Amino acid sequence: MTVRAVVIDLDGVLYVEDEPVPGAADAVASLRARGLALRFATNTTSRPRRRILERLHRLGFDVAPEELVTPAALAVRRCADRGHRTVALVMKDDLREDFPDLVDGGDAVDAVILGDCGEDFGYALLNRAFRLLMDGAELIALQKNRYWLTPDGLSLDVGPFVAALEYAASTEAFVVGKPAPAFFAAALDGTGVTAAQAAMVGDDVESDVGGALHAGMAGILVRTGKFREESVRAAGIRPTAIIDSIAELPALLDAASQRP
Ligand SMILES: [Mg+2]
Repeated sequence: MTVRAVVIDLDGVLYVEDEPVPGAADAVASLRARGLALRFATNTTSRPRRRILERLHRLGFDVAPEELVTPAALAVRRCADRGHRTVALVMKDDLREDFPDLVDGGDAVDAVILGDCGEDFGYALLNRAFRLLMDGAELIALQKNRYWLTPDGLSLDVGPFVAALEYAASTEAFVVGKPAPAFFAAALDGTGVTAAQAAMVGDDVESDVGGALHAGMAGILVRTGKFREESVRAAGIRPTAIIDSIAELPALLDAASQRP
């Protein structure tokens, strides 16, 4: 199989907090040198595109704005599709700049858009969102990851709070981030590469690997970031390949292209 496009998860694959994964920048450069289309896909909803790009550049990764795929952009698309204009942006202040054309606030909104609020997730914030949902707003979740890895250990991600609101309001969120199939399709937009010729590399066996496999792509799991042997077993998902880190990816793709 010859892979023509690679979708690369950021957190846990290229870096953990502010530490680049050893060999990651060289691996990205090497994939580029092979002529592969590259997309950088994150479920991070705690900072805007502008700051994600700044960080990538600071850590030595050469990424163009059009190569970066974030859930915020897909939430904007969902609002346009549904005609939502007034929304509640439940997220860190920083991220609001990625929703410039939506009106935020009021007692009646078309949608509640839920992203990472970190330490600010609390009763008052969740209860306000809950009441808006009970009044008919659509719940749009920027992602629904269970947890992520921070320097002091595994930490709750947005998913548990999405689940709490779904349970309370007896509703089901429209999830725009990984593992939603639309996320992977959007990531390949403009590459001219079909899912069957693309691979996703990530450290989350469910969101990255499971989502990619479901979307018809190869799903490659790295043993960096939040990788845990137990969660791979528990998920019941069989990655296309498991590698120690993204540093091994160029060699893996070379070997795969030798096979029919
Ligand atoms: Mg990750």
